[in-house]
Amino acid sequence: MGRALIIGAGGVASVVAHKCCQNPQVFEEICIASRTLSKCEDLKEKLKGSKTKVSVAQVDADKTEEVIDLIENYKPDIVINVALPYQDLTIMEACLATKVDYLDTANYEPIETAKFEYKWQWAYKELFEKAGITAVLGCGFDPGVTGIFSAHALKHHFDEIHTIDILDANAGDHGYPFATNFNPEINIREVTANGSYYENGNFVETEPMEIKRVYNFPEIGEKDMYLLHHEELESLALNIPGVKRIRFFMTFSERYLTHLKVLENVGMTSIEPIDYEGHKIVPLQFLKAVLPDPASLGPRTKGKTNIGCIYTGTKDGKEKKYYVYNVCDHEECYREVGSQAISYTTGVPAMIGAMMVMTGKWKKPGVFNVEEFDPDPFMDALNQYGLPWQESFEPEMVD
Ligand code: NDP
Repeated sequence: MGRALIIGAGGVASVVAHKCCQNPQVFEEICIASRTLSKCEDLKEKLKGSKTKVSVAQVDADKTEEVIDLIENYKPDIVINVALPYQDLTIMEACLATKVDYLDTANYEPIETAKFEYKWQWAYKELFEKAGITAVLGCGFDPGVTGIFSAHALKHHFDEIHTIDILDANAGDHGYPFATNFNPEINIREVTANGSYYENGNFVETEPMEIKRVYNFPEIGEKDMYLLHHEELESLALNIPGVKRIRFFMTFSERYLTHLKVLENVGMTSIEPIDYEGHKIVPLQFLKAVLPDPASLGPRTKGKTNIGCIYTGTKDGKEKKYYVYNVCDHEECYREVGSQAISYTTGVPAMIGAMMVMTGKWKKPGVFNVEEFDPDPFMDALNQYGLPWQESFEPEMVD
């Protein structure tokens, strides 16, 4: 059917590439392009024997002109951006200049502020409409599948949704005292920032990790979880009419939080550059360099993830509860595509989102969050491509 340009060659890109190769009738050709060419070549080697034709390219996606040149040479039908959030705008600019569809999994964040918001990317709405191209924002698991679940809940289970609790549990054990499951810089920026939740039209800010709950997750058991700010709160608050409260919780172990506290207390999580022996270094970037590479966790990680959403609201005048979630097993993911479940749960939805655009099911001009599209074909594809979902109508609630 067509060709996709994948930008980035990290943990998530690897899963996207493997999954595209499992779907050669849609992805006849892919090009893996990233800053470090050797990583693209290593990935291509792992995909040997697939029906999808794989090529590689070197690109610095911070430079719009380089991305434009690459798109003009390769002529993809869609660009799947699984580099870092800092590259979102330069890649969107390049898609606009070349009139090619765009998809990403994380919203833009300026490198110097640690404040992610959709405003920068939503500002492209009219330009994408005029160019007749589609941008799909935040199409990983959370954000991503959590938005699809919300559109599905609204379409099939509720007349009005009043509350949404997004619960992200990782019961995986990689055996290291401390490591992050995806890019350490992005992960630590997210969890050391203030928390927030949406209530009655406003965002209420909390201290980092101030709100803790314990939840008994299906197939995982009891876990401590903490309220975080998360990007889908912003889009769901706009796109789910009548919603009164949205919260996001993620599980963290005592051990993870103790390490993080110490690193924070000694200044290692700071994004302010410091002088070190005549060089400017950013402590958090240095920390990233000494921590295990998330891509190396795959063969060591055992256990499961459970990510899902609990909704309350009304249907036919009656109060109703609904919980929809996916359970994913780290070791099974590794056996299938050579990555752990965090990369897997992000990369599979990115491939499915690209497939939705390429097959015309989600093709409309403008810039959209995933809950603005028809969830049905995506929900079917989750079952088909390795992220089956389960549901419960009497879930344990979070107080
Ligand atoms: P990695 O750090 O493993 O990979 C990032 C890749 O992007 C690397 O190959 C890196 O190249 C490349 N890259 C960085 N800067 C540039 C640049 N200027 N030009 C070209 N390539 C560049 O990250 P992950 O794979 O773990 O995460 C990828 C994305 O997925 C991130 O945006 C992350 O926030 C998002 N994510 C989303 C989730 C969701 O559920 N929605 C969950 C998890 C992650 P190099 O190797 O040279 O550094």
